[in-house]
Amino acid sequence: MTSHLSRRTVLTTTAAAATTVALGAATASQAHAVPTLPNGTSNDKVLVIGMDGLRHDRIDAANAPHLKAMMSEGTYGTSLLYASPMAATSSGPGWSTISTGVWPDKHGVKDNTFAGKKYGQYPGFLARLAQVRPALSTYAAVDWKPLDAQGTVTPGVDAKLVLDGDRDGYTGHDATIAAETEAIIRDQNPDVLFVYFGQSDIVGHNQGAGSKAYLDQIAVQDAYVGRLRAAIKARPSYASERWTVVVATDHGHLDAGGHGGSSVEERRTFVLATGPGIAAGARPIDTRLVDVVPTVLKQLGITPDPAWGLDGKPVQERSTDPFEALRPALTGRIDETGIPAGVLGFTHTAPSGWSVINNAMGTGGMTEWRGWSFATDEFWSRTQRDQWRELNVRARGVFAVADSDEWSDKTFSGPYDSTLVTPAYDVTGWSRVRLDFTTLYRQEGSQQAQVLASFNGGTPAVVKNYTSDVVSQPQSLTVDVPAGAAGVSFRFRYTGSNNWYWVIDGVRISQS
Ligand SMILES: [Zn+2]
Repeated sequence: MTSHLSRRTVLTTTAAAATTVALGAATASQAHAVPTLPNGTSNDKVLVIGMDGLRHDRIDAANAPHLKAMMSEGTYGTSLLYASPMAATSSGPGWSTISTGVWPDKHGVKDNTFAGKKYGQYPGFLARLAQVRPALSTYAAVDWKPLDAQGTVTPGVDAKLVLDGDRDGYTGHDATIAAETEAIIRDQNPDVLFVYFGQSDIVGHNQGAGSKAYLDQIAVQDAYVGRLRAAIKARPSYASERWTVVVATDHGHLDAGGHGGSSVEERRTFVLATGPGIAAGARPIDTRLVDVVPTVLKQLGITPDPAWGLDGKPVQERSTDPFEALRPALTGRIDETGIPAGVLGFTHTAPSGWSVINNAMGTGGMTEWRGWSFATDEFWSRTQRDQWRELNVRARGVFAVADSDEWSDKTFSGPYDSTLVTPAYDVTGWSRVRLDFTTLYRQEGSQQAQVLASFNGGTPAVVKNYTSDVVSQPQSLTVDVPAGAAGVSFRFRYTGSNNWYWVIDGVRISQS
């Protein structure tokens, strides 16, 4: 939500907060009658619950039986956010990412000013549903007012409850949101709902995510989750309905409180989902925050138009790129000192059919980064903060990385020169082959990054040269297949000397 400082000015003392809360709740309940929604038209129904600043690794320690039940009944994917300069780990960018299903480099919200927002091109999912499925009955309830005033969440809904937690305090308003949503689920027939609870962020700011008070607040919001789930299951028509419930957060929190920065605690986020087709007990490492919207759409039977430019995929779909197969091979740190022991991880073992050529590499250096390595965001981005490794948003799970900067952090000699080689793909009868991947490339000095293609085992030819930054973008290269060629192998060659890095993920080959 708002900055650490302004939050503290809103709630100066516990006593003052309690007074504000009581007034706020009374005002809300007196002034606001439960709205009547249009009758729903879908047996596929979705409830999205947003909890502000909820550090997922604290749920385990909290009295949170309903969130834990959802974890065993559903799929729980944790991941890390971007950081500056893409966007701050703040509520504006976080909720925009959740609501639009695209990263901040598309929706344009980099901080809580919302300056640069592009909700016209990348609307929230409720606005999108109003366009493509206007017969759906939709509802949103928020008490961080900008989610309404800035157009992040509420445009297009049939009914909304908007309260001002910054002015009145969040505790009472969160309770009002829970009660009204519970009543609507119980007494009416909504199809898609978004509800937001804000007090978790306030307690995070005031007492820290490491505090007992924060655990107690998780318990309060967990009880709201329980009431909403119970209201769903108590519906007379429940047996003929297919309900999906999604819980997500916009950013993490420091143990001592606060967010916006690039620490791993501030970057922590998660998507937790239960519903038809969503695997029970799954803990994927390839889920990201942009996956909320594609999950909602899939559960409603809506296929996204590629023109929408969504960045995510439904939480029930796993990444199929070859690097994911390396997850069991990941190990913890060896020479790195900034990554806690036990954090997975990296490996130098290439996927089946792939290889790494390191015969031109220098000697020594950091073991983890000696030549192309296969690593996770949790591991690689913790090597060093604020060097854009946090901007690797379009990689998922395990990716390939060549990092001459980190390699050079331990005594070494000679150049960084490493080549990642794909398997030979059958292109018999093809006139052109297309290579798709995502990349994060940071240019410096004499560093070189090249993609090469070799047909039938012949001399590799350069098909792409990177000479400037590419900040987490999809790449698509099309290469002519020589007459009579049966196979193609691609190479990713990176050379440098204590420069930056190159990340490759999601490699796909297709006929073009
Ligand atoms: Zn927030």
